[in-house]
Order: sequence, then structure tokens, then C-alpha cells
Amino acid sequence: MAGTALRRRLGHRRLTARLVETRDETATARTLRFAVPGWPGHLAGQHADVRLTAEDGYTAQRSYSLSAPADGEFVELTVQLVPDGEVSPYLVRDIEVGDEVELLGPLGGWFVWRPEQPGPVLLIGGGSGIAPLRAMLRARSAASPPFRLLYSVRTPSDVYFAGELDSPDVTLLYTREAPDGVERTPHRIDAADLTAYGLPAAEEPTCYVCGPTSFVETVTGLLIDAGHDPARVRAERFGG
Ligand SMILES: Cc1cc2nc3c(=O)[nH]c(=O)nc-3n(C[C@H](O)[C@H](O)[C@H](O)COP(=O)(O)OP(=O)(O)OC[C@H]3O[C@@H](n4cnc5c(N)ncnc54)[C@H](O)[C@@H]3O)c2cc1C
Repeated sequence: MAGTALRRRLGHRRLTARLVETRDETATARTLRFAVPGWPGHLAGQHADVRLTAEDGYTAQRSYSLSAPADGEFVELTVQLVPDGEVSPYLVRDIEVGDEVELLGPLGGWFVWRPEQPGPVLLIGGGSGIAPLRAMLRARSAASPPFRLLYSVRTPSDVYFAGELDSPDVTLLYTREAPDGVERTPHRIDAADLTAYGLPAAEEPTCYVCGPTSFVETVTGLLIDAGHDPARVRAERFGG
């Protein structure tokens, strides 16, 4: 009983999540909105573990960032299809409104943005790594410190949350193909991009970097080379 009470206080209990809405972000990614009775709330940047159970009892579990800020019993996840994957094809292609999964969370205490946190914020996401950063962007208010988002995507059709990112605080960094009118030649994020579009180390931003492992490792290295204090560089690796 004591263990159960502690898990409940920590928010780490498995809850039933019922899919209530889906929204395609790209041809291979979608946002899933679940109703989760008993959800304890969460901080922007946290994630949850989704557990699927087959009829024969086989289970598979994967982590997904919470892509929207706390909203009562509602939770959003944004999932990129990994074509040969076990769990993501089900979440992107097969699950239907009304279906249920198990959710464990919220999880993670380091890769989070707290509204009371002082200082500017530099968000750098690659591909589906935008998911927790979008929750941070939406959690801020008029009273929040300056935010800057650099979002690395292959092509214009790979942009998630397209309708929400039209802001001077947001720079899309295309790696393969850019829309007409974008001067920057498509390429992977580099030191010059950080200088041109990021925030200088002298402003001491807290930096949040999220995406595939290789992207995160490259960008955290660039930030540290540019003089950012490693203690203020927080990273979340999605694998891949
Ligand atoms: C803290 C955390 C948060 C995450 N948040 C998100 C999120 O918000 N959205 C999201 O789409 N994913 C997220 N992920 C990744 C997610 O947990 C799964 O790894 C991903 O969905 C693939 O699972 P799968 O079962 O489809 O593939 P698997 O069956 O696990 O893997 C199949 C193949 O794909 C490769 N692979 C595994 N993961 C990836 C990946 N991320 N990219 C490319 N190839 C991969 C594997 O090496 C393997 O070869 C997160 C991971 C972590 C650790």
C-alpha cells in the first residue's frame, strides 16, 4: 500500500488513455489527443510511456514526449512513423478514436521548462524532436522570458505544427529543400546557424535540444563550442 501511495504522489501510475482526436502533422506523423482520467498534470518537456497489449498478452512500451502543456485530463502525443518499427506504425496508422492504451507518467524532471524559471530559453529541435519544445512554447505566457526556437526539418512538407510556428521567435532550418524565398541554402545545422538565429552564450539561455541521437549530439557540441555552459544545455534523445 505504501508503495502504491508513493507512486500515486509521484504521478507514476499506469492510467487508461482513450483516444479522442487525431491530427495529421505530415504524411508520416500525427498528433494524438487522449482523455486520461486521473492524469496528475505535467510540466512542459516531460514524457510518458505508452504501453500496448495484444490479445495474446504480448506488450510493447515506448516513450513519447507530451507535446502540449497540461490541460486537465487531456494529453497530446505527436508520433513520427518509423516504418519498420513495432509501436509507431500502430500509433500513426492504426489506432482509432475510442481505442485505449495504457499511459505511465508524467516522466522526467530535467528536460522540463518551469514557468518560474529565470532567463531566456533557446529551443533546438530536429524532426519529431519538436514535440516537447512545442509544449514549452505553448506553456509560456506574456510574462515569460524571451524564447527562441530553431527547428531543423528536411523539407517544407516535414514541418509539424505548421500553423503555430509563424513567429519572429521561430526559425525553420531546412536540410534538403527550402520553400521559395528562403535565402539560407539547405544544410544541416551548423555553428553559423547558431550565431545567426540562436541566442548568444553571453545571455545565458537555458538550451533544450531534442531529436534523433546524432542531431542532439551534434547540436550540444556546437552549443558548448559556442561558449554555452554545459550545465545549461539540456538534451533529450529520441533514438534512431
Ligand atoms: C524520452 C523519449 C521521448 C520520445 N518522444 C518521442 C516523440 O515525442 N515522438 C516520436 O515520434 N518518438 C519519440 N521517441 C521515440 C519513441 O520512443 C520510439 O523509439 C519510436 O517511436 C520508435 O518506436 P518503434 O516501436 O516504432 O520502433 P522500434 O521497433 O523500437 O525500432 C525499429 C527500428 O527503428 C529504429 N528506431 C528506433 N527509434 C527510432 C527513432 N526515434 N527514429 C528513427 N529510428 C528509430 C530502431 O533502431 C530500429 O532499427 C521518444 C523517445 C524517448 C526516449
